[in-house]
Amino acid sequence: MPQQPVIIVGAGISGLSIAYELQQRNIPYVVLEAGNHGGGTVKSLHVNGFELDAGPNSIAASPEMMEYLQQLGLGNDILIASAAGKNRFLVRNRQLHAVSPHPFKIIGSKFIGGASKWKLFTERFRKSTPPAGEETVTAFVTRRFSSEIAAYVFEPILSGIYAGDPDRLSIAEVLPMLPRWEREYGSITKGVMKEKGAMGGRKIISLKGGNATLTNTLQQKLHTPVRFNAAVNAVQSATDGYTVSYIENGIAGQLHASQVIFTSPAYSTGVVISKLDAAVAKLLQQVEYPEMGVLHVGYDASAIANPVNGFGFLVPHAEQLHFLGVINNTAIFPTKAPEGKVLFTIFTGGARQQHYLQQYDHAVLQQKILKELGELLGISAAPVMQHFEVWPKAIPQLNVGHEKLRAAVTGFEKTHPGIHIAGNYLHGVAVPALIKYASELADTIAKN
Ligand SMILES: Cc1cc2nc3c(=O)[nH]c(=O)nc-3n(C[C@H](O)[C@H](O)[C@H](O)COP(=O)(O)OP(=O)(O)OC[C@H]3O[C@@H](n4cnc5c(N)ncnc54)[C@H](O)[C@@H]3O)c2cc1C
Repeated sequence: MPQQPVIIVGAGISGLSIAYELQQRNIPYVVLEAGNHGGGTVKSLHVNGFELDAGPNSIAASPEMMEYLQQLGLGNDILIASAAGKNRFLVRNRQLHAVSPHPFKIIGSKFIGGASKWKLFTERFRKSTPPAGEETVTAFVTRRFSSEIAAYVFEPILSGIYAGDPDRLSIAEVLPMLPRWEREYGSITKGVMKEKGAMGGRKIISLKGGNATLTNTLQQKLHTPVRFNAAVNAVQSATDGYTVSYIENGIAGQLHASQVIFTSPAYSTGVVISKLDAAVAKLLQQVEYPEMGVLHVGYDASAIANPVNGFGFLVPHAEQLHFLGVINNTAIFPTKAPEGKVLFTIFTGGARQQHYLQQYDHAVLQQKILKELGELLGISAAPVMQHFEVWPKAIPQLNVGHEKLRAAVTGFEKTHPGIHIAGNYLHGVAVPALIKYASELADTIAKN
């Protein structure tokens, strides 16, 4: 009897990379995608000679990720960030300050005060008992360091990754090494010193044509084409596995499979599995995905009086600007703009700022952002290119309580063998983490 195809729900980077890994292991698959194109959150655009990424702008690629791209035939399309990419900045008192994640470099900086520097310096000698249960980022960092370090170091870093609210994000979910260092070494600064080589070997990269070159290539490599405009709406148990119901181009259909992989966002997966387990479905639907806006602006290079020689800069919430951070695309990847022009990608919204997207007309919000950017960088002319992209549900928030969701999903997968719940709210928001998980999941399925 021919092997039943594995059904994959969603054709973002998770769904496409899982399909590719199954294909590499000769396991048949069907990918059902609700939208009319692949890539999901990975979305590249070309406007007036500028190359824009509305989703992931850069990929922190490990040697394994570089090898993966080579295998896909993308070796010549890899753009490696310039040396300036190592320089990061932060806004305090409407000025840019160079920052480093290294604790002793923070001690030498001007963006935090003397009391916080003392707390940082003495952290390794201080004993502090963690509370029972999950702790927020703010509670953890304030307990180990100070509220200023929480607001001016950790809050901007996490808004750069999750556009999140550290008063609600779970430290164990978003920075799991920190509680581990506290347990193992009794100190975070000791942990940084002892494990500083662990993240080594990663390169910040992008791809020629935009990062959608990756998802487009995966899609082209699939021998079974993705089925677009095919929204899965229910899954039910059947004698030989599961029945998956969907609407494809307006017509209802069903498929049977013993293995079903969900890579759709939590709120969507929650609706689909609700007939199998209403309690897990409810928890999935409660995962918060705040709205975000991504503003791309291009200028003549000569219009910028104070150019930033680095990856970009982050804005702590306490600074009360209308954006979270800026990527200085052309400083790291010069080919992203025509000759003589510069490109910035500016993020707004997220857990602490999404009200701006509702409060202001989007044209007004863009004006406010550009005025603030102009003051920081001394910009003397209007942009030569401007494009605004809105993600109504952008990045999942791994808030306190996520531990309960993880346990519920694990329990659900045990009681429903053959159903796999994947996606960035469980296996890491960064693109390389999702690709790594795709290979692990395909190995598990191949073994079964
Ligand atoms: C603004 C922004 C910037 C980012 N920057 C970076 C970065 O610089 N570096 C980085 O590594 N990561 C970054 N990320 C995170 C990264 O892009 C995402 O975590 C990743 O792309 C998610 O991929 P996914 O396939 O898991 O989910 P998605 O991309 O959300 O794909 C899920 C797919 O499922 C489909 N779907 C939903 N419901 C159904 C259904 N019922 N039936 C069928 N299909 C369905 C959707 O249409 C979608 O195509 C960024 C994210 C955002 C929003």
